Amino acid sequence: MTYDFDLFTIGAGSGGVRASRIAAGHGARVAVAEDYRAGGTCVIRGCVPKKLLVYASHVHEDVEDAAGYGWDIAEPSHSWEKLIAAKNKEIDRLENIYHGLLSNAGATEIKGRGRVVGPNAVEVDGKTYTAERILIATGGWPVVPDIPGKEHAITSNEALELPEMPKRVAIVGGGYIAVEFAGIFNGLGAEVTQIIRKDKILRGFDEDMRDGLQVAMADKGVNFLTGVNVTRIDKADSGLTLSLDTGESLEVDAVMYATGRAPNSGNMGLEEVGVALKPNGAIAVNEWSQTSVDSIFAVGDVTDRIALTPVAIQEGHAFADTFFGDKPRRVDHSDVPSAVFSQPPIGTVGLTEAEARARYDDIDIYRSSFRPMKATLSGRQERAVMKLIVDRNSDAVLGAHMLGPDAPEIIQGIGIAVKMGATKADFDATVGIHPSSAEEFVTMRTPVPDPARSEAAE
Ligand code: NDP
Repeated sequence: MTYDFDLFTIGAGSGGVRASRIAAGHGARVAVAEDYRAGGTCVIRGCVPKKLLVYASHVHEDVEDAAGYGWDIAEPSHSWEKLIAAKNKEIDRLENIYHGLLSNAGATEIKGRGRVVGPNAVEVDGKTYTAERILIATGGWPVVPDIPGKEHAITSNEALELPEMPKRVAIVGGGYIAVEFAGIFNGLGAEVTQIIRKDKILRGFDEDMRDGLQVAMADKGVNFLTGVNVTRIDKADSGLTLSLDTGESLEVDAVMYATGRAPNSGNMGLEEVGVALKPNGAIAVNEWSQTSVDSIFAVGDVTDRIALTPVAIQEGHAFADTFFGDKPRRVDHSDVPSAVFSQPPIGTVGLTEAEARARYDDIDIYRSSFRPMKATLSGRQERAVMKLIVDRNSDAVLGAHMLGPDAPEIIQGIGIAVKMGATKADFDATVGIHPSSAEEFVTMRTPVPDPARSEAAE
C-alpha cells in the first residue's frame, strides 16, 4: 500500500520537530501537524521564556551585589511590559527557526489538530492523511486541582503573558515550576507566598538540596506556608482571596498553580485505535517508543518517562534513526542530568543520597557547604552546597548534586563523568580550576561520618 507520507507527526514541540527533521533527513516523506505554534512547551511557554525571566529577575540581586564591588548604581526600576515584549520577540524568532528547521529538512507543516483515525491515518480539520508510521509528540498540560474558584487561578502558561506584574503572588506547589516562578516573581519585587501541602519543596531531589534551597528562598523573601492547602479562591475587591485549610485566608493579586502536568493524550482517537494508555493518561511505549499499535509511536512528555526537553529530543532522534535511518538505537534514561532554575539554582545527576542508601549496602557521602567567593565582597550570606554520593565497594560516583550559582552549568560536565562511570579516584585525580566553585567537586577528600558506622562503633 502506498501512503501519503512515511511519517506523520502530531505535535511540533521539541520531540516532534527533532524526529521529523531527522526522519526527513534520512529521506522520509514527513508531515507535521501542530494546532498552536512550532516549538512546543519548551520554546513557547516553558524552558526558554522561563529562563529569560529568571535572568531578568536576577538583575536586582546583581545590582545589590555591585555595591560591594565599588559600583554606585541608583535604585533600578523595572518594566514588566518591556520584559514581556522582549521575551515575545525572542520567542517569535525561535519559532521561525523551528519552521525553518522543518521546511529546510523538507517536512510538510499542516496547521491544525491531529486526530488518529486508524493505525495509519490521521485527520486534521476534516482531511485524512495516511502514513506508514504515526508519531505522537503532543506534550503535557498544567493540571489545576478541582476547587471552587479554580477559574481565577493561572498556570505557568498565563504567568508568562500577564499584562502587568502582580504585586502579591501566591504560588501553589513545590515542584520545578513552582520554585522557579517563586524566584522570578520574588526577584522582580513581588510579595511571594509559596503554598506547599507537605513540609518541603522538590520531592524526589536530594534532601540537602531541598533543605538548602528552601532556606535560601526564604532568606531572599519568599514566604512559605507548609502543610497547607487552598480550599477555595474568591474574587475580592482588589485581587483574590484564598481560603486555606488552616481556617486562615490570604489576599493576593494572582495565584499560580504549579501542581504538576498531565499528558496531552485525550480526544485524539488513541484508545479507539487500540493505543494503550497508562492510568495517568500517558501513552505506554516500549524501549523503541512504540505503542501497543505497531505503526504508532510516541515520544516526550506525553509518554511520561522523564519530562525534560533534552530527553524528548533524544527520544525523537533515536526513533527517527531507528525507523528511517537504519541505525537502531534506544535512549538510555539513566543518569539524566537536570537543573532547577531556582534562585539559587540546583544541578543534579544520578542518585540522591536516599536512593543510593536504598540500593547499595555501603555508600560514602562527600559534602561541602561554603560561601561562594563572589559573596565575600558583596556581603551576601548565601551558601553553595555540593555533594557526591559514592559506592564504597566499587568507588563509583553514583550521584552529584549542587545548589548554588552556576550549578546547572557545572553539573552538565559532571554529568559526563557520572555517565561514563567515573570513580571517586577519577574525581580526585582531576586537577581543580582555581578559584572556582566547581573545583570543590574534585577536592572533597573526607566523607561525612556515616551514621551506620558510628552506631556500629558504639
Ligand atoms: P512536579 O510534578 O515537579 O511538582 C508538582 C508539585 O505540586 C509538587 O510539589 C506536588 O507536591 C504539588 N502538588 C501536586 N498536586 C497538588 C495538589 N493537589 N495540591 C497542592 N500541591 C500539589 O510538577 P511541575 O508542574 O513543577 O513540573 C512538571 C514537570 O516539568 C517536572 O516534573 C519536570 O520534569 C518538568 N520541568 C522541568 C524543568 C527544568 O528542567 N528546569 C522546569 C519546569 C518543569 P508533593 O511534593 O506534595 O507531591
